[in-house]
Amino acid sequence: MQIGVLTETAPYERRVALTPESAGRLIAAGHSVYVQSGAGRAADEDDDAFREAGAMIARTPEEILGNIDLLTGVGQLDQQTAAKLTPGTAVVGLASPKEGRGPAGVLVDRHATFFALEQLPRITRAQSMDALSSQAMVAGYRAGLVAAERLPRFFPLLMTAAGTVPPARVLVLGAGVAGLQAIATAKRLGAVVEAHDVRDSAPEEVRSLGARFLTLDVETQTSGSGGYAREQSSDALSRQRKALAPYVAAADAVITTAAVPGKPAPLLVTADMVEKMRPGSVVVDLAADNPHGGNCELSRPGEDVRHHGVLIHGGRNVPSELAGHASRLYGANMAAFVLAMCRDGVLLSTPEEVAADEIAAACCVLLKGEFR
Ligand code: NAD
Repeated sequence: MQIGVLTETAPYERRVALTPESAGRLIAAGHSVYVQSGAGRAADEDDDAFREAGAMIARTPEEILGNIDLLTGVGQLDQQTAAKLTPGTAVVGLASPKEGRGPAGVLVDRHATFFALEQLPRITRAQSMDALSSQAMVAGYRAGLVAAERLPRFFPLLMTAAGTVPPARVLVLGAGVAGLQAIATAKRLGAVVEAHDVRDSAPEEVRSLGARFLTLDVETQTSGSGGYAREQSSDALSRQRKALAPYVAAADAVITTAAVPGKPAPLLVTADMVEKMRPGSVVVDLAADNPHGGNCELSRPGEDVRHHGVLIHGGRNVPSELAGHASRLYGANMAAFVLAMCRDGVLLSTPEEVAADEIAAACCVLLKGEFR
């Protein structure tokens, strides 16, 4: 197969869909990889490294788009690029046009096929392809660092001749992949960490990292399909906020990572709760770029907002802030996915072939111009 990699065009996107390492894996399996010159620059991967891996470098997107069977991507595909796809081209990426993230109409016109990695089933065979988890891990790590960096206090306990500095108290809300990584990062920096999540498997995972799980008088859930939480009623959320309020007020840093796939992020920290925090405290909201608003009422994606002396940092494409490693992990997920979706070197392409493979059936949102 001829596989393409373009410079990402979505705002604030620094990642690249394949790195030299992952491109090399596909090339070793008999595929050809075409990379737009400079596509890896923002992720610190230069053209020479791609050449050494056996990829071909093209100057313009047009040189690639007319020659490929499969386009790999990370962020939302733009309209102009989609319009230049050769009819019948397949696209693999994270921004599903079925969820309104991408030029659905143009892709239909181009008879394109789209595999959305965010639809990946969480089964053992798909673990190496799990781009949502790899990118959430990057975001969680980064959130821990941002909290430490924005907080005008130490994270660790310090015993000095000038006196003892107590460790910072960090509260992590949402203990999935990102939250667990935020907990681990804050712990490594010496903070005392507490966490809460609504899933009943979360307490054990939180405790295994040496953090304290907050058992609140709120309803818990058995994990839904794929390990995800389900949306809560507004009553349940309001009870949860009430139970969380004293812990938010006592925290030096609150890191929020709570999400329910395809739904608005649960509102866990209101302006009123922020006003009860000590001046200088911080809130880092990883859910801030959810189109319906983040976990904190005051967060704005990509901005630092000050409210009553508390700094609220809203995440915006946080994995891109660590574009190098985020791309390496994403590229590895992408290569594993593409290899798993090929039979005799060709991508699965008929409705029967797609339906017969659990991963293809879940991820294929558009097949030869028809939404599924
Ligand atoms: P996610 O990004 O959808 O959500 C993040 C977290 O927010 C979840 O833990 C969720 O329970 C939590 N949350 C939702 N509403 C909340 C609320 N009101 N208050 C507090 N927390 C709330 O989830 P994720 O991180 O992608 O995955 C969640 C779980 O799925 C993981 O912890 C893991 O157990 C499982 N998982 C399984 C696989 C696999 O089987 N291959 C891979 C990755 C994750």
